[in-house]
Amino acid sequence: MTEVADAVVIGAGPNGLVAANALVDAGWDVLLVEANPEVGGAVRSAEVTAPGFCNDLFSAFYPLAAASPVISDLDLAAHGLSWRHAPAVLSHALDDGRAAVLSRDPDVTAASVDSFHAGDGEAWLRMFAQWRRVRDPLLDALFTPFPPIRSGARIIRALKTAGTLDLARLAVLPVRRLAQESFGGDGAAVLLTGNAMHADVPPDAAGSGIFGWLLTMLGQDVGYPVPQGGAQRFAEALASRARARGALIRTGARVERIETSRGRAVGVRLHDGTRIAARRAVLADVDAPTLYRDLVGFDNLPARVRRDVDRFQWDHATVKVNWALREPVPWRSEAAHGAGTVHLGVDVDGFVDFAADLTVGRRPARPFLLFGQMTTSDPTRSPPGTESAWAYTHVPAGTVDEASALDDHVDRMTAAIERVAPGFSGTVLARSVQSPSDLASADSNLVGGAINAGTSAVHQELVFRPIPGLGRPETPVPGLYLAGASAHPGGGVHGACGWNAARAALATERSGKALRRALLRTAWGRLLRD
Ligand SMILES: Cc1cc2nc3c(=O)[nH]c(=O)nc-3n(C[C@H](O)[C@H](O)[C@H](O)COP(=O)(O)OP(=O)(O)OC[C@H]3O[C@@H](n4cnc5c(N)ncnc54)[C@H](O)[C@@H]3O)c2cc1C
Repeated sequence: MTEVADAVVIGAGPNGLVAANALVDAGWDVLLVEANPEVGGAVRSAEVTAPGFCNDLFSAFYPLAAASPVISDLDLAAHGLSWRHAPAVLSHALDDGRAAVLSRDPDVTAASVDSFHAGDGEAWLRMFAQWRRVRDPLLDALFTPFPPIRSGARIIRALKTAGTLDLARLAVLPVRRLAQESFGGDGAAVLLTGNAMHADVPPDAAGSGIFGWLLTMLGQDVGYPVPQGGAQRFAEALASRARARGALIRTGARVERIETSRGRAVGVRLHDGTRIAARRAVLADVDAPTLYRDLVGFDNLPARVRRDVDRFQWDHATVKVNWALREPVPWRSEAAHGAGTVHLGVDVDGFVDFAADLTVGRRPARPFLLFGQMTTSDPTRSPPGTESAWAYTHVPAGTVDEASALDDHVDRMTAAIERVAPGFSGTVLARSVQSPSDLASADSNLVGGAINAGTSAVHQELVFRPIPGLGRPETPVPGLYLAGASAHPGGGVHGACGWNAARAALATERSGKALRRALLRTAWGRLLRD
């Protein structure tokens, strides 16, 4: 072993960076090793279309970060992060020229959904009022390790028994059913469903309702902010804070192996053979299958882990297109012009068709697109009068491996945009396409172009995430913690996976550690016994 640190953190995605910050705050010395030449994981930006156009390469809008107590407590403004907002949060543009709009002003959203069906505006405001009542304990429950005992009690206090039962029902309700029960028109339904589809749960499947409700209400509450100057600035603010407090960050250093001694994680080995010893813990911002199969090795794990990893379900693959546009997008609907995010390509029923295509492995003929207007959100992203834009959609794994299939799918995406913004193609100055394999080679956690480190379906959430177990960051290997988005609460830039892993490592090392370690050993032993 040539180097030593209290903790080695593998991976400088947002979760790894948050974990490093939490550990240095507690006085540990931390070495963070990142495979890529730059920090950020799926929070990066670069000029990949035309000079002067900043393109976010993966994630772009950060409602979860804005709502996350973990991120806000880091005071990243002191490290150069500043948030910008588009005039409107989000719009869903329908092929018939209508569009629903989500604004940070609840009355504006209410008026928009009411224009689809009288009475939906009132229903919207009621839904938002319910969100406001439960928001703080709910976010605490979501962002802390399972089970959320204290925040659960606060939820019950805020909602009483009947309201808590309603919330529990919402947690398993399909988003299509949620929209039908709550609203008469399509405006609110497409807003809820489009937001639900940021995860991979079909709109008629249990569990999609809570995603749609959560993201829509967050958009209503905190907006969909973007970092001024590009996603990279967010990652750099996290890295700058960690460095300022003493963390060492080494880029261009891929971990190939987690070293164990008598069953405990004691360090890592890099691709060039360098060894780094960890006195106290190894935290891995690495997808769970790669961590267990390649970095630890099944031989060092109970047999049951191999079975569970073999049936780990990835979320769908992704095709992303980035554009430099010489002028703003020629939307048919006025409501889409000021929105940071525009959903398009499908209507309420079209969401079901799209999800069904993904489920059966058919490349969707009419894809659902998430479209980002980055200069509308942050004028520094491209020269005045132009637009830096992107869109992504999902495809079943393996269906765009051939160049011709990828080209055809990009044509389908462009056709969907042309239906709601005729003349769009004529505004394109330059374009760059990211296939599923491009995404995976830029960030090895995006396996097969999956963006959420594993499905968000109920069978892989809470105590089933990433594999049936404790729903906590501790792994069956003492001293090794899962800090990436394969852990609860999953994908999205909120930092909770990294924070929870760091808190778990710190707690295990504090006084009473022997008892805590023994309890963990017993729990894993029972869970993984064949
Ligand atoms: C196209 C796309 C769009 C998205 N849009 C949004 C959005 O708008 N808003 C939002 O909140 N979320 C969005 N997400 C999801 C979000 O970006 C991810 O959930 C989040 O980045 C996960 O963070 P992480 O730290 O767990 O992993 P990642 O961000 O994937 O970072 C993992 C890091 O670990 C490094 N690493 C992995 N293995 C090793 C190893 N062996 N050795 C060294 N380093 C290693 C990788 O190189 C990478 O830098 C999007 C994702 C994608 C791909």
